[in-house]
Amino acid sequence: GKGDVHAEVVVLGSGPGGYSAAFRAADLGKKVVLIERYDTLGGVCLNVGCIPSKALLHVAKVITEADEMSSHGVSFGKPKVELKELREFKDGVVGKLTGGLEGLAKGRKVQVVRGFGKFTGPNMISVEGEGGATTVSFDQCIIAAGSESVKLPFVPHDDERVIDSTGALELEDIPKRMLVLGGGIIGLEMACVYDALGSKVTVVELMDQLMPGADKDIVKPLMDRIKGRYENIFLKTKVTGVEALKKGLKVSFEDEKGESFTDTFDKVLVAVGRKPNGAMLDAEKAGVSVDDRGFIAVDHQQRTGQSHIFAIGDVVGQPMLAHKAVHEGKVAAEVTAGEKRAFDARVIPSVAYTDPEVAWAGLTETQAKAQGIKYEKGVFPWAASGRSLSNGRSEGMTKLLFDPEDDRVIGGGIVGTNAGDLIAEVALAIEMGSDAVDLGHTIHPHPTLSETVNFAAEMFEGTITDLM
Ligand code: FAD
Repeated sequence: GKGDVHAEVVVLGSGPGGYSAAFRAADLGKKVVLIERYDTLGGVCLNVGCIPSKALLHVAKVITEADEMSSHGVSFGKPKVELKELREFKDGVVGKLTGGLEGLAKGRKVQVVRGFGKFTGPNMISVEGEGGATTVSFDQCIIAAGSESVKLPFVPHDDERVIDSTGALELEDIPKRMLVLGGGIIGLEMACVYDALGSKVTVVELMDQLMPGADKDIVKPLMDRIKGRYENIFLKTKVTGVEALKKGLKVSFEDEKGESFTDTFDKVLVAVGRKPNGAMLDAEKAGVSVDDRGFIAVDHQQRTGQSHIFAIGDVVGQPMLAHKAVHEGKVAAEVTAGEKRAFDARVIPSVAYTDPEVAWAGLTETQAKAQGIKYEKGVFPWAASGRSLSNGRSEGMTKLLFDPEDDRVIGGGIVGTNAGDLIAEVALAIEMGSDAVDLGHTIHPHPTLSETVNFAAEMFEGTITDLM
């Protein structure tokens, strides 16, 4: 074997949760070991998630914007896509960030141990790496093992034309006709990329709307736009089988009336959700319980049932988002160092970086109705935003939900260009307990899309003027 190391804090998994926890614990003076099975640090987010998808979405946006310029009097030629160079751009972005993490780890004397880690006892992890096993003994542990794509039993996943998000990001080719199985954030982002690159895209979703977690009204502008661009969008429709034929993947669908139909695609992207990696860690040997689905339950300080073992990120539950993992990682690290920290964030914003972007934070109207929570709202349609019209787009919307008792902001949804950046103000407002007057009286720069947050508050207060 490679021998033994001791860690005051060992972190299992180097995704955004894991590296944030490791760096924070090291900054607080702990001797930290970070375990990762893959060559590069950064987990799903940096390697095969948030970052490569955003690099490709940027390219998609430039392509569609250039195309739509023709209606503003400027025409470009048809884009010529060099897949190899496009892949190099994306891989370059990823490489810069994962390489940067390596440097940050070194700078903090965080020891990275490569290999697959499994618990062998309440204070011991065995890491199976290339050159043999390393035994890491620890005082405290932070589990940050993340998640992986869900596979479907009736789909031939071993056929190379069936891909998950990782396969989609590899950009092997641009299929002529592609089925995106699952209308959630990840599926729709990839649909956006392949549509811009020239694929004919079909999206199939079981529920009655795309992105079931978001309010229907903020998803509608996205729906309206992609309805015109994609080949088909099937809602309330189930895929019942995928057959690998020589000429393509023959997919069987069943609509809400129980009627079946089939269609054949060059590629099928399965994006039906992600499942936690909790079950592969032998966590029970450390006395940590993992539920049937692979989630590890934690308290408000990220502690598992074992008080010296913490868990963070995708492996502890929804929403499976990088910024949630980072926040939890910092909380756990600070608690290992004896600080009185707890997870007490009011909101975790969600963003789909589609075109248009869809973002929400805090209470949604759907949730409010389901839970009987009283609210009032202020809505500002971007058709009245000078900046949005200048951008050649009018379909956006900013919606704020207020507590009728004290006018405090309790939720918000934004759809439109840069909605993902704009939702940060709503998150800050909710965290700070801001009310409608705070948002209405804060001077926002004109003409920006950020004004729409200010205007939505004024719509609620009834103090809006015609500032375009
Ligand atoms: P992960 O990033 O999953 O990292 C876990 C790490 O642990 C991995 O590197 C894994 O190899 C390692 N590991 C696991 N078990 C072991 C073991 N036993 N031994 C050694 N190593 C182990 N989120 C956003 O917020 N914004 C986005 O735009 C966004 N886009 C996404 C796009 C795609 C295509 C996908 C798939 C996800 C996206 N996400 C996004 C979600 C985001 O990637 C995850 O929420 C985030 O990566 C979770 O971080 P984590 O630290 O919990 O785990």
